[in-house]
Amino acid sequence: MTLNPAWRAYRPWLSVVTVSLPLFLLWAFGMQSQPARVMRYPTAGLKFVMAAGLGVGLVSVAGIVRLWFFRCPRCGGLFHQKSIFTSVPRLGAGCPRCGLEKWQDPTGASP
Ligand SMILES: [Zn+2]
Repeated sequence: MTLNPAWRAYRPWLSVVTVSLPLFLLWAFGMQSQPARVMRYPTAGLKFVMAAGLGVGLVSVAGIVRLWFFRCPRCGGLFHQKSIFTSVPRLGAGCPRCGLEKWQDPTGASP
């Protein structure tokens, strides 16, 4: 199955979030389980790990925001929510306006 061109901008960001979010959560769990005295005087290695983890977290947030505001390839509305202000993002479901499902051809042909 070839990916419809309309979804080419979507898939890389989905991959970014799929990889970075679990890494960031793992990092956050690892950091919070460090003893306080280790965190008070971090070694160069620990400083690197802290910076890298924060970087991964920022990338993850960027990916989530990008997916959150992804526009439906068919109707141009927000794909994961009805409104920026009033609704919680719906992941996995189709477009709340036109019903286009994820990965489906927006021109109307079968997926
Ligand atoms: Zn739509």
